[in-house]
Amino acid sequence: MARYKSLQKKIQKYEKKIRKSRVKLKRKLYQFKNYVFKFGISTKEDFELVKPSLLNISLPCHLGIVSIGKFNLNLIQKIQYNIEQKFDSFFFNIYNLGRYKFPKEVFNKGIKRELKEIENTTELLELHPTNKIYQLLIDLAKSNNLDMILAVTDLPLYSSNNSNIIFLFGEAHIRHNCCVVSSLKLKEEYYNRAKNKTILELRLIKETTHELGHLIIGPEHCDNNLCVMTFSREIEGIDNKSIRFCDKCYQKLIKIREINNF
Ligand SMILES: [Zn+2]
Ligand SMILES: [Zn+2]
Repeated sequence: MARYKSLQKKIQKYEKKIRKSRVKLKRKLYQFKNYVFKFGISTKEDFELVKPSLLNISLPCHLGIVSIGKFNLNLIQKIQYNIEQKFDSFFFNIYNLGRYKFPKEVFNKGIKRELKEIENTTELLELHPTNKIYQLLIDLAKSNNLDMILAVTDLPLYSSNNSNIIFLFGEAHIRHNCCVVSSLKLKEEYYNRAKNKTILELRLIKETTHELGHLIIGPEHCDNNLCVMTFSREIEGIDNKSIRFCDKCYQKLIKIREINNF
């Protein structure tokens, strides 16, 4: 019996090793694919963004929120209310631009198929490049006279700017003053757990604050892992941090307010 148990343990160890090297191999393959892309052997970038303006926007400014996917108005209003509180006086107005649906030909562009990143999964997801979202946001900001814009989407995303990040919670394009948060990996269902509206709301509030924080404070992350500006690789990191800025980050906001005289 003991022999059987030790054999079983050995098998489990090997299975774990195989799983690990499978993930490693997938990463390597992905890196190789990107390497090939860089040299133009494969398709060219589907979304080439216009050159951003070199001028910094002046603060306070006008912010817009657009939802790409199904979100109820109440949730968007909660996100909006939180932004008003956290970035008090940074925005003249926050406009809800409502729901946007990509035309089919745009929707299908740049899609990458990836395995859902949780253990023992065979489910394939279609990931969209962040540049697709940014292009839309740049156009929407222009047509609505907005300085800054946030998208909340239920689409799975990959980064057009960092090939090491396959799956995103969110990303900000600082020079273009726009950012996006995806709800997909913030949902309990993604981790095969029961749906929970309250948890999803809280995570969305944290991540939208975080990405807008980048647009206002800058690209750096906070080393205080309770601060909303800390970098979270996994969902546990998001749950562990608070919805607030730490003192250091809050002081940065105050300083920006002072520099801009408001
Ligand atoms: Zn960040
Ligand atoms: Zn901080």
